[in-house]
Amino acid sequence: MSMRSDVPFFFVEAAHSLEDVLQAFESKATSLESDFQKVERWLLADYRVDLLGRVPVLVYPDLKTYQLAANCLICAAYVGRPLDQPANDEEPLLGFGAHLNLESATSTVFHEFVHVVDFAAVPNAAVPMWYEGLASYIGNRLLGTAGKPLIDILPQYLKRYRQTHGLSLRDYLTRPAYGRWTYNLGTNLIDLLVQREGVERFLSFYRALQRPDLAEYDRLFRRFYGLDLDALEALWQAQLDRTAMTQEGVLSYRFKLDQIVVRWIYLRPLLKDPQRLKQAYLNLWRDGKFNAQEAQFMRDYVNDPNNLAPAEDRIKDLLQNAQQLRSYVATYAESSVRQQDLDRDLQALEAVCLPQAPNACALRYFNIVHDFVRWM
Ligand SMILES: [Zn+2]
Repeated sequence: MSMRSDVPFFFVEAAHSLEDVLQAFESKATSLESDFQKVERWLLADYRVDLLGRVPVLVYPDLKTYQLAANCLICAAYVGRPLDQPANDEEPLLGFGAHLNLESATSTVFHEFVHVVDFAAVPNAAVPMWYEGLASYIGNRLLGTAGKPLIDILPQYLKRYRQTHGLSLRDYLTRPAYGRWTYNLGTNLIDLLVQREGVERFLSFYRALQRPDLAEYDRLFRRFYGLDLDALEALWQAQLDRTAMTQEGVLSYRFKLDQIVVRWIYLRPLLKDPQRLKQAYLNLWRDGKFNAQEAQFMRDYVNDPNNLAPAEDRIKDLLQNAQQLRSYVATYAESSVRQQDLDRDLQALEAVCLPQAPNACALRYFNIVHDFVRWM
């Protein structure tokens, strides 16, 4: 029996009895509604509760339950129809689901609000770079950059990556799937377009985009920005050329490229001192400066197999984590060969992970994480 709690913009469904969560939600409903209205104002779009219904908020008791139910093992939250309701064109409900930890999830919830309002206004949004870029851009701009100046440092990351691997806008403009730079490149490009001609122009362009192929882009960039696709690419590349690298940019780029945070997330159930690592993570961007000592600590810690503390009772968790790793690689690995390699290694892992051999199992899993959680 699901529980339900009604406030003007949202209704809450909890698959389990979560009295305290529902109470927490109700106490925050007013500020959530004000966040939701901020998003509507930015997007110049009314969600129209009277037409579309209140936004469902689907609550799960913990992250794992939610991820299994949503069938997305790397999602912190998602936006879509309520999981137990079949698609129904007459009632286009869009909600967001999460394990509702509203204390720590402010920016995640905000990000999903953008998707809810955006998808209601642009039902055919097809390219992840645009809609994820938009959610991340608005989140950054409206929630401020306190603690983590992501939006300002992105051009440095993109410039650095371009130096070693090459990077072209065209690849991402038409990409129907996610790629490594989907969120960052989208955020950066939207920032550039908004700085050039303002929010309203950008939204007109974005909402006119029906069929995201190169010819359509060429036509729409000419119409809204007076630039053809080549000129836009040149403008974007020139922005990277002009970007000066800072110490923060250099240090945090290397940390990002090493995927230390993601490795930490996958290794978490096996590590000796998870609290210390969590503290280091929270300190990374404290006061808006990249903390190189804490970064070095995290890098050393997650890269050292001596910090594994395998125990029999964690083996099951570890194998479940291996499924999450599969989901991660399937989303971000650019080559199907890598996915097949991972499947082969995971099969071998299962064979090793007998309860009496936690050390061998943990070490093998550690090696898999290090092999696959890096930019390929
Ligand atoms: Zn998103």
